[in-house]
Amino acid sequence: MSSRAYVGLGANLGADLLATLTQAAQALAALPDTRLLALSSAWRSAPIDAGGPDFLNAVAALETGLPPLELLDALQAIEQAHGRERPYRNAPRTLDLDLLLYGGLVLDTPRLTLPHPRLAERAFVLRPLLEIAPDLVRLATSEAWQAQRIERSGSIPH
Ligand code: ADP
Ligand code: MG
Repeated sequence: MSSRAYVGLGANLGADLLATLTQAAQALAALPDTRLLALSSAWRSAPIDAGGPDFLNAVAALETGLPPLELLDALQAIEQAHGRERPYRNAPRTLDLDLLLYGGLVLDTPRLTLPHPRLAERAFVLRPLLEIAPDLVRLATSEAWQAQRIERSGSIPH
């Protein structure tokens, strides 16, 4: 049995953020028992609740047979492969991969909360998601994100 999962990709540290997102998308497509169904454009926005350089963000839709915690393990392994460190909360990051949605699963455990708790209030999640899953985004009730500055930064090769 497989499920539709949405993954948020973000990077704001490193010389070539688009290359980071490109490699991350390839790594997602190469996960076992997983297909990359869709990939949004790259979107640039200022960090929220933190300083540092602008972020480049995207959202990927996957069809996967990996159970949710195995998928999270895999996302964290890809982050590690990109030198992700977690020195403090909201620190700039080489690569952040968040599991936004996994089918219709609602979960609240120490390691994994689904849907992702800040999903509905972040332009950098909702704007790319709007490109690849417009029906999903129309369900989001918050409109606060629409006031946040964000601009399309181009396509991600895949
Ligand atoms: P953030 O993405 O919030 O800036 P991190 O990437 O460092 O911070 O994630 C912190 C922790 O959040 C992870 O160790 C992970 O176990 C947990 N977590 C809970 N729910 C999720 C989710 N839906 N997607 C990704 N990580 C999650
Ligand atoms: Mg994260």
